[in-house]
Parts: sequence; structure tokens; C-alpha cells
Amino acid sequence: MPVYKAPVEDVLFLLNDVFHIERFANLPGFADASPDTVRVIVGEAAKFCEEVLAPLNRVGDRQGCRRGDDGSVTTPDGFREAYRRYTEGGWIGISVPQEFGGLDLPMAITQTVNEFMASANMAFAMYPGLTQGAIAALLAHGTDAQKALYVPKMVAGEWTGTMNLTEPQCGTDLGLIRTKAVRQADGSFRITGTKIFISAGEHDLAANIVHLVLARVEGAPEGTRGLSLFVVPKFVPNPNGSLGARNAVSCGSLEEKMGIHGNATCVMNYDGAAGWLVAEENRGLQAMFVMMNEARLGVGVQGLALSEVAYQNAAQYARDRLQGRAVTGAAFKDKPADPIIVHPDIRRTLMTIRAFNEAARALVLWTSIRSDVAHRADAGKDRRAADDYMGLLTPVIKGVLTDLGFAYTVMAQQVFGGHGYIQEWGMEQFVRDARIPMIYEGANGIQALDLVGRKLGKDGGRAAMAFFNEVQGYVKDHAGNDAMKPLVEPLGRALGHLQQATMWFMQNALTKPDNAGAGATDYMHLFGLVVLGYMWCRIAVAAHEKLAADTSGRMKAKLVTARFFMERMLPETAAHLARIQAGAASVMELPAEMF
Ligand SMILES: Cc1cc2nc3c(=O)[nH]c(=O)nc-3n(C[C@H](O)[C@H](O)[C@H](O)COP(=O)(O)OP(=O)(O)OC[C@H]3O[C@@H](n4cnc5c(N)ncnc54)[C@H](O)[C@@H]3O)c2cc1C
Repeated sequence: MPVYKAPVEDVLFLLNDVFHIERFANLPGFADASPDTVRVIVGEAAKFCEEVLAPLNRVGDRQGCRRGDDGSVTTPDGFREAYRRYTEGGWIGISVPQEFGGLDLPMAITQTVNEFMASANMAFAMYPGLTQGAIAALLAHGTDAQKALYVPKMVAGEWTGTMNLTEPQCGTDLGLIRTKAVRQADGSFRITGTKIFISAGEHDLAANIVHLVLARVEGAPEGTRGLSLFVVPKFVPNPNGSLGARNAVSCGSLEEKMGIHGNATCVMNYDGAAGWLVAEENRGLQAMFVMMNEARLGVGVQGLALSEVAYQNAAQYARDRLQGRAVTGAAFKDKPADPIIVHPDIRRTLMTIRAFNEAARALVLWTSIRSDVAHRADAGKDRRAADDYMGLLTPVIKGVLTDLGFAYTVMAQQVFGGHGYIQEWGMEQFVRDARIPMIYEGANGIQALDLVGRKLGKDGGRAAMAFFNEVQGYVKDHAGNDAMKPLVEPLGRALGHLQQATMWFMQNALTKPDNAGAGATDYMHLFGLVVLGYMWCRIAVAAHEKLAADTSGRMKAKLVTARFFMERMLPETAAHLARIQAGAASVMELPAEMF
């Protein structure tokens, strides 16, 4: 059975020593997040994920969800009990305001718990993950009555949430949505249509399911400008929160899919279901974006989470598996062969994955802190800067962490040789599960286009310029530090590549948009490498500070891994730049019928 040990110490090091979360104590909720409190919460989450969720991961994969003739959906054995224990732990609302039953603690703690959960059992983690997104959308755009009625129940886990965008004829292009909403005399709407691929659309974990549904009010404009957001509960709640009538929404079938078998992916039929408008009519997409942005960060975390659990198993296997001898001579003469961890190619593989995982975790936590500044700081410069940063980094985190998360999960599988391909070791499940984050919540090609087409030029390029200045300033500040020179010099070069690529788009893509489209994925990955390199520099500064007192070897390991990243991963920025500057000509030349 696969192993999983939540990286508690790494998280605490990042929060306390790298990002100094105590410096944000002026933000609401942060004063309660003392190092001791954070240690207890993160430790408890680790225990729950290691002991309860991880053992259910394979059960969920093998059994999957089952749909009854009445449209009910049964989750795999053990999920109900695990969900009950999960809700008792109060994990859903860690960062939700206390007036709605949450703890109002920093988002970084929520994302940490979510990472552990997705490593242990991604299919399970998606049920509360979607609920968190739905809570965020309701808090941002719901009426006071909607917030009071729905949010406390969802925070308690008694009711779960879903997001309903996709239809058979429309995925990326939401302007094609056909689901209809007809206004009723009492101010409610009747919702009719079919949604597909709806995660957690139906299940047996909670008493009620709160669907957030994009639909078009009769007579609304075509395209995305005519979309409105509705809350459509499975059971219509009475004003006191008790469950009322069963609504006309049902699961028509379950998708049979490549991975995350323990999560129900449903075709949802809305047959004149009662729904209530959330946010203004025809402003539904903007409201849904709150949920989508939250979900995009959550999906990025899934990429990291799968890469982490795959790494842990590959590292253990590499220490145990005996094959061949070290090229420099037998390392373990008493054994019939050396463990494969002696081989440089296996080490290169493991170093690559850990160099990604640790920097990606830093990026997630740093971004979570910025997201709290964006939401909790008093209106002003800090808040606007944090908001800009979130807009810019959201597609990078979603696209890069899931593309690389999958690639490195496959790399970890390779360490197992043939044993990675058979079910017994669990690696093939990780690979199957890691594939979906690249696709849902906006396929990664779309994330790249969002970055290049929308986010770069927004507000005259304010967010991108601020990011470039931040990294450039950091490089400059540490250029005179001998210990940091081997790290900040390559980071400075990589940033130069990113700035050249940005300039190239400005000069070559405004009149020829194919140049932007053809280079967008490379640009997103170039951006990702720069920000991961920046994270490694920040980790290294903290590791140097703790090096003398550290007897565990962990700080030394971080410094070696930082060097590895700079020497062997960051140089990819040059290749990305070259591909971007090659332009779209060879990409676009062949006629469609030649493909
Ligand atoms: C397991 C699973 C769970 C899901 N959960 C949910 C859920 O809970 N709620 C929900 O609403 N949806 C959900 N989805 C749907 C998911 O978000 C969509 O599948 C995804 O957004 C892509 O849409 P599509 O499948 O229609 O692909 P398409 O939009 O048809 O795209 C196909 C390919 O073309 C590319 N492409 C499309 N348009 C462009 C363009 N303009 N420029 C360049 N490239 C383009 C895309 O990048 C993609 O690679 C889920 C899907 C799966 C498989």
C-alpha cells in the first residue's frame, strides 16, 4: 500500500521562517494564528489525512461511486464515516468568518489542509473542496438571507456545494450555455436544462446539496453577457434551515472516467427546479468567477499534492529496491546489489520532483497570504497590489502546478520500473488522478491564454510590472550576498527571459494574435519557472539563517535542492523564450485537412 506522511515541518518552516506569517498580525484573523495554534491544527490535519483518508484512497478507486435506479449515488465504503469525522473536525470553515460558523484563520492553513487531503485522497477531498468554493461565491455575492440560510450549514458540512457550468455543447465557451431560467411571480425562477461533468453533483455524504448553476433568464442577451447565477438546492430549505420539499434536480447518470473514481461526476438534470438569483441578473459569470478563481487555486494545489505523494513513494522505493551497482563501485557490499538510489539518473529524478514540490508549496502559501491581504486588508494600496498579484498568478498556479504535477507524478512512477505500471504499488492511480487537474477548471491551454491575453495587459500591465519589480528588487538586494549569489544570478537571468518574452509579445502579438496563442503555454511555464525560482531564493535565505542551529540536515537539504533547481530546472526558461520568439508561422501554416 502507498505511504503518505504529511509535510508538516516543511509547512511550518515556510509559514514561520520564510514568510513570517506573524508580520501579518494586523489582518483580521491572523492574530489568532499563533505558531502553537498553527502547529496543532496542521498536526491534527496530518493525522486525519494519514490515518483516515489515505487508507480509503484505493478503496475509492476500486469501488467508485454507484448510482441507484432512483438517481441516488452511493460513495465508496468508508467515505461516509470519514466525511462525518471530517466535519466534526471543523475543517471546511477554517478561513470562513466566525459569524458563519468558521474560524476566520488564514487561507494558508486552509490550503495546507487541502494539500494534505488531496495527497491522501483526492477524490474524497473534492467534496468539501467544492463546498468551500460555493461558500466563497455565496459570501461574495449572495443576499444576506442566502448567506444566513446556506453558509452555516455548508461550513458545518451538513450541506455540500457544487458548481454547474458545463453542458454537452459547451465547456470552455460558456457563452453557449442553454440552461434556461424562467421568472416566477414570487421572485424565484424555474431552472431547466442539462449540466454534465458535475463533480459531487449527487452523493450520500450530506443531507442536502447546494448547486450553484449558470443559466440564462428568458430574453437575456446571447453569449456570456446573458448569464445569471442561481442557487438551486436539492431540498428547498425552510426559513429555519430544516429541509423542505425535494427540488426537481436529479442525477441522470455517472461518468465512467480515468481517475478520481471516488468522486461522483454527474450528469445533472434540471426539470423546472426552483432556483434563486445570486448576484445581479446577467452578472452571473462575474459572480461564478469567485468560485472559479478559488477552485483554480485549489486545483493547482491538487497538482502539487499528487506530485508530493508520488515523490514520497518513489523515494522510499528507491531506498529499498536493489538493482545494479553504483558506477563508482559497490556502495552496499553486503547486499547482492545496491539500492537504486545510488544511481545518478534516479537521483536526478527525485531531485527534480522535490525541487518542484517544495517551491510549489511555498508559492501556494505565499499566494494564500496575498489572497488574505486582498480580502482582509483595509482598502488601499496593499490590497490593490495583492489583488493584482492574485489575478496574475491564478492562471500560473492552476496551469503550471497541474502540468508539472502530472509530469512529476509520471516521473515518480518511472522510479518503480514495471512495478509502477501495475496496481499493487498505487502509482498508476496517482498518475490517473493527476491527469484531471490539467483539464478541469479551464483546460491549461485556456489558463495560458488568460495569462497572456487578459492578465498581462490588464490596467496597462500594472500587475506584471509590479511582479517584475518585486523579483528584480529581490535579486538586487541579495546580489552582494556571496551565499545567495549562485541562486539570485540565475534568477536574474530567468527574469530577463520573462521580460524579453513579454516585450516580444508587445511588439509581435498585438497585430498578429496567433503569435500570442502559439506562445502562451511557453510563456505560462516560463513565468512559472521564474516564480518557483523566486520561491527557492526566499527559502534559501531562511535556510541559511537556520543552518548553524539545524542538526536534522533539513536546512542543508533545502540549500542543495535550491542549487539543483537553479542549475538544472531554471535554465529551461531559455528554451521557452526561444519557442515564443519563433512565432506562430510553423504552427499555423498547415491547412486543417492536413492534420
Ligand atoms: C472529472 C471532471 C470533473 C468536472 N467537474 C466539473 C464541475 O464540477 N463543474 C463544471 O461545470 N464542469 C466540470 N467539468 C468540466 C470541465 O471544467 C471541462 O471539461 C473543461 O472546462 C473543458 O471543457 P470541454 O471539456 O468542453 O473542452 P473544450 O472546451 O471542448 O476544449 C477542448 C480543447 O480545446 C481547447 N480550446 C477550447 N477553446 C479554445 C480556444 N478558444 N483557444 C484555444 N484552445 C481552446 C481547450 O484548451 C481543450 O484542450 C469536469 C470535467 C471532468 C472531466
